[in-house]
Amino acid sequence: MKFITKTGLKALVTGLIRDYKVYGTVKKDGFPAYGEITDAKQLVLLQTPTHLSAKGFVFPERETLLRFNMEDGSHKPVVEAADQVIIGLHACDIHAMLLMDRVFAYGAPDANYLARRAKTLVIGTDCMPDEHCFCQSIGTMHATEGFDLFLHQTKNGFAIDVGTKRGAAILRKYTKAVTAAASEIRNMEAFEKKRAGSFKTRLDAPAAALPAIYARSDASPVWDRIGSICYGCGSCNNVCPTCYCFDVRDEPAANLKQGERVRVWDACTLEEFALVAGGHNFRKPRGARLRHRFNRKFRYLTDVFNAPFCVGCGRCIRTCLVNINIAEVTNELIAEDAKRGIIDETVRTKKAER
Ligand code: SF4
Ligand code: SF4
Repeated sequence: MKFITKTGLKALVTGLIRDYKVYGTVKKDGFPAYGEITDAKQLVLLQTPTHLSAKGFVFPERETLLRFNMEDGSHKPVVEAADQVIIGLHACDIHAMLLMDRVFAYGAPDANYLARRAKTLVIGTDCMPDEHCFCQSIGTMHATEGFDLFLHQTKNGFAIDVGTKRGAAILRKYTKAVTAAASEIRNMEAFEKKRAGSFKTRLDAPAAALPAIYARSDASPVWDRIGSICYGCGSCNNVCPTCYCFDVRDEPAANLKQGERVRVWDACTLEEFALVAGGHNFRKPRGARLRHRFNRKFRYLTDVFNAPFCVGCGRCIRTCLVNINIAEVTNELIAEDAKRGIIDETVRTKKAER
């Protein structure tokens, strides 16, 4: 494990700014957020989660996929990707980005996402859970891959996990790293212990049991209850680091000669998401939309990718104006399932361990 001082981090960030577009965690109007870093002083390594995730840097809210010419019928793909660095991702967000990598490489590979991702360096950092974080229950509390460097803040600087050759190269090029002293590693381990004991939100069943529990919960009264208060505003999708649904639109220019095909984020909690020709809507009730979203996180995508698509970051909980809480809802479904007397072996094992 490597070590740099606080001055060493400043040198690293200053060097990166010279050669890359650098984004990192900052305080915007007092709130934790990601923003462009043009001076190392702007970077504030945050232990609490940002309101929006970092997904927009690799999967922008709006991007042009191709430009077309309606006069001659030609079109030209647009792939825009610049060398960039994202500093300050927490372990859950690194897991989220690894999931997005799998999604956009699955089936027909997505050239735009993959090009941007290949040019993105990721520098992770430690965090401390707030009352809504539940990554410990999902298994996304630590990242062992998906980053180039991972900074563990210690008393005198940063102990660093080097994840890739690119990470080692930027460390060599821009700053002076030494082997971490035993005292710095002890410092890091003490923080980790404190962190592990700080979670207030927990799921009452292991993540591996959730697909089956969700599969038995389609008729739960929970969906109508939360559907009756949900605004269908889409905020939970927008802030989620693993929600990746998008819409594709052709936008002709005013001269009706050229145009662009753009993709924009979409959200399964919006009323028109499942609206099809003829005015039919597969998921008009808000409860049905929430049931779909939660099932995507713990069941449908797990069936395809063999991993939960919720990383426990708690963003959708923090952002929801009516306090719909995916962890509480999941625990209600777990409790309903237990009442049915169908307790998965995985649930039983977890209870026995307590
Ligand atoms: S659950 Fe909350 S954030 Fe999500 S759509 Fe409903 S009201 Fe909006
Ligand atoms: S569903 Fe909510 S808690 Fe889970 S990853 Fe998305 S925003 Fe985070």
